[in-house]
Amino acid sequence: MGRVHASEHPLIQHKLTLLRSVDTEPKKFRELVREISILLAYEATADLAVAPKEVTTPLAHTTGLSLSEKIGLIPILRAGLGMVEGIWEMMPTAQVWHIGLYRDHRTLQPVAYYNKLPVSPTVQVCLILDPMLATGGSAVAAADMLKQWGARRIKYLGIIAAPEGVRNLEAHHPDVDIHLGTIDDQLTPEPAAPGDPPKGYILPGLGDAGDRQFGTG
Ligand code: URA
Repeated sequence: MGRVHASEHPLIQHKLTLLRSVDTEPKKFRELVREISILLAYEATADLAVAPKEVTTPLAHTTGLSLSEKIGLIPILRAGLGMVEGIWEMMPTAQVWHIGLYRDHRTLQPVAYYNKLPVSPTVQVCLILDPMLATGGSAVAAADMLKQWGARRIKYLGIIAAPEGVRNLEAHHPDVDIHLGTIDDQLTPEPAAPGDPPKGYILPGLGDAGDRQFGTG
């Protein structure tokens, strides 16, 4: 059964506060996304399988442990890209499979535009990387795609979630573990006046995670 883990780690909470700030420039924003992602991955991979492995130290022969499952990192383009590098450094043999999904701004429904997954799965554990779990539409679609591919174990790693998105992902994929930096208050409603934020953003959130990483806001 999947579980929702909202991190309470002080380092994650500290970095999240810096990340949210409107004064945080793209370079610093990217650094923080990278660092928070490593910390989230550390928490999310605590149950990975290991197997005994013989090792010779300069002093003795002993038995250590080695990861025994192949891991896939699945960043959702484009905001998930910034989560890859740091996690990949922690697990350099992971495979990276990109999935392109964008949110139709009118319907808020995900639209798939890139999927080059091979015919059959090449990894045993998939980590979906997408910083913002808003309505949950993209996360549900990504998990659907991975399950159609044949993936058995899927974990979702996100930096900030809205309660609506968590409920949606849990309802459609109760077997997917959900690892989050935090769960915010709500999604923005339909704008009532000019200048109001667009519908479907996380509140208080951090704005558009793609724009803030890539300097396109
Ligand atoms: N995507 C973002 O980048 N930010 C949000 O608040 C919601 C979706």
